[in-house]
Amino acid sequence: MAKTGATHVIIMGPQGAGKGTQAAVVAPRLQLAHIATGDLFREVMASDSNLGKEVRSYYDRGALVPDDLTIRMLMARVDEVLVGQSSLRGMLLDGFPRNQAQAESLDLALRDRGDRLAAVVRVDVPRDILMDRLTGRLICPNCGATYHRVFNPPKNDGVCDVCGSTLTQRSDDTPEAVERRLSIYYEQTAPVLDYYRKSGLLVDIDGDRPIDEVSASIIEALAPRFDAS
Ligand code: ADP
Ligand code: ADP
Ligand code: ZN
Repeated sequence: MAKTGATHVIIMGPQGAGKGTQAAVVAPRLQLAHIATGDLFREVMASDSNLGKEVRSYYDRGALVPDDLTIRMLMARVDEVLVGQSSLRGMLLDGFPRNQAQAESLDLALRDRGDRLAAVVRVDVPRDILMDRLTGRLICPNCGATYHRVFNPPKNDGVCDVCGSTLTQRSDDTPEAVERRLSIYYEQTAPVLDYYRKSGLLVDIDGDRPIDEVSASIIEALAPRFDAS
């Protein structure tokens, strides 16, 4: 694997906390490239490949894709995005890691590359708010932009502000799949926050506020972590 010496940030929080929404605003401001493992999987499922079918067998149930496959796909994308991009500091990782094993695999992969983590941003929102956010979520299948029917509607009904494509609902934003994904989050992913807290990387952000306020807090909290590097 190529040595790049990049500096990465992780954004964590339960489904619906606003990770994707915030990443779209914050990543370009901090010269980071946004990579969401969920987006990687949706891309591969859009092709009719065997890999796409394998991923779908987990994805549509709201189950985690196996760790090995996930980390391989993620690191391949990191290489692809960072090669020749001297204006980027690193990646804003969204949706990864989701369990302790993934966090440890990431540490090893970053060490091999000579990369480091600048911070782990935790965006937190009370559980009872998340279901409404997720069942009203609309996404752009073309550019990945995220909207909400009520809380963050597009300018024109059903059409992406960024690229003009028709918005859709995710196949796993049904109440059943949301419940399953949230349970996995609280059981397997939330404990990883302690791991990062112990290493002094965790930055806590209250995500139960208007989108702009949350973005401003994230940028303010991260700026000194880059200046120190
Ligand atoms: P995540 O990536 O954490 O699952 P998203 O960014 O996709 O979350 O946001 C989930 C839904 O909530 C989307 O429909 C989004 O438009 C909406 N949303 C995001 N941030 C806020 C906010 N601060 N207040 C209200 N709704 C929000
Ligand atoms: P959400 O966080 O709302 O569940 P994502 O778009 O991040 O949605 O992920 C959608 C699906 O992709 C997950 O339910 C899971 O099947 C798969 N996935 C995403 N990230 C990972 C990961 N780090 N490890 C394993 N599976 C993942
Ligand atoms: Zn779009």
